[in-house]
Amino acid sequence: MTPMRRIGIMGGTFNPIHNGHLAIAKKAKEQFLLEKVLFMPSGVPYMKDQREVLPIQVRCEMTALAIRDISDFELSEMEAADAALGKNTYTCDTLQKLRIADPDAAYYFILGADSLYAMEDWKNPELIFQNCTVLAAVRTADHVSSQITDTAAQTTGGIHAAPERREMHFSAMSDQAAKEPETIRLLTAHAQYLRRKYHAFVEILEFAGIDISSTQIRERARKGESLQGLLPEAVIAYIWQNHLYEKHS
Ligand code: ATP
Ligand code: MG
Repeated sequence: MTPMRRIGIMGGTFNPIHNGHLAIAKKAKEQFLLEKVLFMPSGVPYMKDQREVLPIQVRCEMTALAIRDISDFELSEMEAADAALGKNTYTCDTLQKLRIADPDAAYYFILGADSLYAMEDWKNPELIFQNCTVLAAVRTADHVSSQITDTAAQTTGGIHAAPERREMHFSAMSDQAAKEPETIRLLTAHAQYLRRKYHAFVEILEFAGIDISSTQIRERARKGESLQGLLPEAVIAYIWQNHLYEKHS
C-alpha cells in the first residue's frame, strides 16, 4: 500500500494574509512532511465585524500574491466560491468535500492557538476531528491570553484550575521570557483535553510564535504606518495601490 499523501489546509479570513500565516504553514509543512499546503480564504465568520472584512475576491487576490513564489503553497477557492454566493462555509463540510474529492489524502488542518481554543464552538467538532489531524501553533501571549480567560480555562478545567491560570497569565504579561513557556503549556494541555474528549489527533507545532495579526495590519494601514516585515512585499504594494483598509467604510 502506498503511504497516504499528506496535505495541509491553512484556513483563515486572511484580511489580509500575513507572515504569521505563512510561517505556521511553512513550519507545518516541514515538521509533518506535507506534500503541499492549501491556503483557503473563508467567508466572514459570524464573530468578526462584517464591515471590516474585505470582499472574498480581494482576500483571495492577496492570498495568491502572498504565495505565488512559494512552491507547494496553493490557493484553494473551495470556501471562497460559497462565500462569494453569500453562503456560510463550515470546516466540517469542507473537510468532507476534500475527502470525497481526494480519498487517498490525509488532511492536516493548520491553525493558531486562538482557533484551537475556539474549536469546540465550531459546527460539528466531532466530525472535524474525525477527518483531519489538527496542527496548532502558539500565538504570542497577548493573543492567547484573552482567549484563554473565556474558553480554554473552563474547558480544560479538569486538568488545571481556571482561576490559577488566569492569574498566572496576567501577572506574567510584562515578562516576555516568562510567558512563552506558559502559552505552550496551556496549548499542550488543551490539545490533551481535545484528544481525550474527541479522540482527536492534535499536534503542537514547534513554533516560537510571531506577533503579527491582521487586526494590527489593518490598524497600521488606517493610520498610514509602514507594513514592512509584517506581510509579503507584493501584498503590501497591493494594499496601498488599492487603498485597502485606509478608511473604515
Ligand atoms: P484577525 O486579527 O483579523 O483575526 P488573524 O491575524 O487572527 O486576523 P485569521 O485570518 O483570523 O488571522 O487567522 C487564520 C488562522 O491563522 C487562525 O487559525 C489563526 O489562529 C492563525 N494565525 C493568525 N496569525 C497567527 C500568528 N501570528 N501566529 C500563529 N497563528 C496565527
Ligand atoms: Mg483571527
